[in-house]
Amino acid sequence: MLLNGKIAVVTGGTRGIGYATVKKFLDNGAKVALFGSRSTTVERAVQQLKETCADYEVEGFYPDLLNAEEVRKTFEQIVSKWGRIDILVNNAGVSARESIYTYDPEEFKKTMDLNVNAVFICTHEVVKFMKEQGSGVILNTSSMVSLYGQPSGCAYPASKFAINGLTKSLARELGKDQIRVNAVAPGVTNTDMVAALPDEVIQPLINTIPLKRVGEPEDIANAFLFLASDMASYVTGEILSVDGAAMT
Ligand code: NAD
Repeated sequence: MLLNGKIAVVTGGTRGIGYATVKKFLDNGAKVALFGSRSTTVERAVQQLKETCADYEVEGFYPDLLNAEEVRKTFEQIVSKWGRIDILVNNAGVSARESIYTYDPEEFKKTMDLNVNAVFICTHEVVKFMKEQGSGVILNTSSMVSLYGQPSGCAYPASKFAINGLTKSLARELGKDQIRVNAVAPGVTNTDMVAALPDEVIQPLINTIPLKRVGEPEDIANAFLFLASDMASYVTGEILSVDGAAMT
């Protein structure tokens, strides 16, 4: 059990990569605060996990990730219940497909808000606790498109390039406080985000992947587990590609 006794927060934990990560962390002995955007989906995810294993220590929360005060109060609740926060996984995110010719600037802003500003806010609020504890791990969710861009929905790759910048910069800034900061850059992964894409987009992508399949949420959760654990005790500032060598 790689995370025995650790306290973790996973944003966007109700489904997809986040849900698989919550489950992986629970299976490895962590207590997990699962964040989502709505009470109904959060409660459903928590109930589903508890039905899988009654011993899982998992609590659901749905703070507005763009509201620093709400995020701070939620972290305070977690610390008062479990004593500390060892791991933050910034996973909540939205994709984008708009053409630049018809892109509504408000839509561009919405993507940047959740994918970048919310990551900043959650990180900004958690580092105070981690500094006081003398250790912590922050994991961000980047993407394969942070290396290559994509031919539409430019806010999405722009947001993930920003995530790489935050990851590398914060690793340098927070190392002295024994806070490690890394990111996982998934390739095409089998979640609702990808199910929403039409076949004519997905199939050509699969053809370019040397492993000839899309990733499963568990493939990504395994990478988060490694980076969250002491197995990665000397790894910081890394963007770990988990993409079947797509596009290389
Ligand atoms: P998903 O759509 O299945 O899940 C997204 C999660 O984010 C959900 O739990 C949802 O509740 C949460 N969320 C959405 N909007 C929110 C909001 N406004 N406030 C709070 N939470 C919100 O997505 P996924 O495919 O599991 O993606 C998870 C992360 O992985 C994202 O950051 C995404 O960019 C990244 N990623 C996914 C893929 C892929 O192919 N699926 C590839 C690369 C990177």
